[in-house]
Amino acid sequence: MKLKILVDNQAMPGFKAEWGFSCFVEAKENVLFDTGASASMLAFNAEKFGVKPEQISKLVLSHDHRDHTGGLEWISQNRNLKVFALDSFSGKTKQRIGKNAELIEVSESAEVSKGIFSTGKLNNSIDEQALVLKTKKGLVVLVGCSHPGLEKILEKANLFGKIYAVIGGFHGFNKFDTLKGIEIIAATHCTEHKAEIQKLFPEAFVECAAGKEFEFG
Ligand SMILES: [Zn+2]
Ligand SMILES: [Zn+2]
Repeated sequence: MKLKILVDNQAMPGFKAEWGFSCFVEAKENVLFDTGASASMLAFNAEKFGVKPEQISKLVLSHDHRDHTGGLEWISQNRNLKVFALDSFSGKTKQRIGKNAELIEVSESAEVSKGIFSTGKLNNSIDEQALVLKTKKGLVVLVGCSHPGLEKILEKANLFGKIYAVIGGFHGFNKFDTLKGIEIIAATHCTEHKAEIQKLFPEAFVECAAGKEFEFG
């Protein structure tokens, strides 16, 4: 399974940065996780990677914030698209999705594709879902902004097995002990305590940016 970071607050040479997050999961069936803040940015970086909307049949939206749903119009050029969004998304966002794609409302944890699971809805002030990927190296957890608290997401993901990697936005997460034992920590996007996480876990910490690729066998 391979992961390609399409949108992030930082970018590698040749790629563009914006405040947002999107990750392409290359598997037997390709899945897109979030879409960044704009269709033009997603299109630009995806093209750099040679990723086309037609290659992606499933999209998972972590939560109903514009920096994660903004690029929807790029991916929904694929007319066979299924979008996994939380049942608590706003009517406006659901309408945007339903215009060109099939909306699948998520509440409980669910299998999105073979070996790719949604944690289901985790609440705080903002509802969010994360993706759990079963790879040969162990579980990879993909997070959007971690608004419900990364520790809550990891606790839920732990029910699927042992966590090998966690990638995405950690927001204000500071319960650093819960990261112990995780071998790859790619804290990016909105992560507030990035420097501290890097200092505490120098071997596991991985710099992440648009253009970055991960391979998990
Ligand atoms: Zn965000
Ligand atoms: Zn957010």
